[in-house]
Amino acid sequence: MTARIIPIISQLSAKLAANAAAQSFPATGLLTDTLARPLRDLRISVTDRCNFRCSYCMPSEVFNKDYAYLPQSSLLSFEEIARLARVFVAHGVEKIRLTGGEPLLRKNIEALIEMLARMTTAAGKPLDITLTTNASLLAKKAKSLKDAGLQRVTVSLDAMDDAIFRRMNDVDFPVTDVLHGIEVANNVGLSPIKINMVVKRGTNDSEILPMARHFHHSGNVLRFIEYMDVGATNGWRMDEVMPSRQLIDVINSEFPVTAIGPNYVGETAERWRYDDGAGEIGVISSVTQAFCGDCNRARLSTEGKLFLCLFAVSGHDLRGLLRGDFSDAQISNAVANIWQQRSDRYSQLRAALPADVDSGHGRRRVEMSYIGG
Ligand code: SAM
Ligand code: SF4
Ligand code: SF4
Repeated sequence: MTARIIPIISQLSAKLAANAAAQSFPATGLLTDTLARPLRDLRISVTDRCNFRCSYCMPSEVFNKDYAYLPQSSLLSFEEIARLARVFVAHGVEKIRLTGGEPLLRKNIEALIEMLARMTTAAGKPLDITLTTNASLLAKKAKSLKDAGLQRVTVSLDAMDDAIFRRMNDVDFPVTDVLHGIEVANNVGLSPIKINMVVKRGTNDSEILPMARHFHHSGNVLRFIEYMDVGATNGWRMDEVMPSRQLIDVINSEFPVTAIGPNYVGETAERWRYDDGAGEIGVISSVTQAFCGDCNRARLSTEGKLFLCLFAVSGHDLRGLLRGDFSDAQISNAVANIWQQRSDRYSQLRAALPADVDSGHGRRRVEMSYIGG
């Protein structure tokens, strides 16, 4: 039986249309939400498909051959994505991250990057364009991505140990191919590369030090991510989360590190510098230390729904506006109205709840592969 696991409760398009027609909000780049958070970062999911089956993201029992992925006609075209990107940039977005699913599976993604690379921010600076990938196709594509205007990549890698890594990606993909992709990306100048490691206690916490040893002195920035309760299919349990504080203790046992300040407001990773001058690492404590206060991130799903939080249960159907009879100015109004009404702060609220309370209020959250990491 074909089952669609992601129930998206669309906002009423009537409401969106009303937003579009509402009092005009000029795109000054100064848009803020109800908690005075600006709109700076847009993550765009370009496909809901992936060639890996990481158990924390797309478990193979659910994302199997019967899983109903979005049909091609549902996906935003590159022209539609670029049109929306222009609206978001005018409202203050300075950074766009392409993600998915696996973004390098989207055919001719370079063409989209070329379109985005031509845009400038509201302050007239070049847009910061980056992409998160599992690196399975990176060696092949690094040069064309760079030539298209991509500045940097973030590579996900959860272990140095080949057996552990193959188990975690669940498609028997070898570590050496990911490392080769990282090497080629460095050689073509897609750097500094960030390496994201999701740490699952009991699964790959034994890999924290081997990963640190490998990327120590490499110029790449290793970032440890707490295993998050995103989506509704990964069977998340708090006892599988390795709190960042403990992780830093593990690192400190071999490589003393000192905390350093953020690069910019709203940075998700807390930065630590190796005392021996070997570079820095980051920890993303999405579970144990909420960072909603500065959250300036919006997410555009594969089929053009705007999500205001990684843990949202519903999105705003911008594709309906794109494919309806709406002008750029009306779409811009709609986006402004949506952001101005934003009050999401899921992680902060969850932190305030007892562990046994369902912070999703029984509603099913969207999957990370659909909304983009
Ligand atoms: N396929 C690409 C990749 O893996 O880099 C991009 C999409 S993936 C959804 C984006 C990021 O989300 C990856 O770094 C991945 O490790 C992270 N991620 C996925 N599920 C997660 C979870 N449950 N907790 C923490 N991070 C997660
Ligand atoms: Fe695919 Fe990335 Fe999710 Fe792994 S984390 S299943 S590579 S989308
Ligand atoms: Fe932003 Fe939502 Fe994450 Fe808070 S929980 S930091 S609002 S994405």
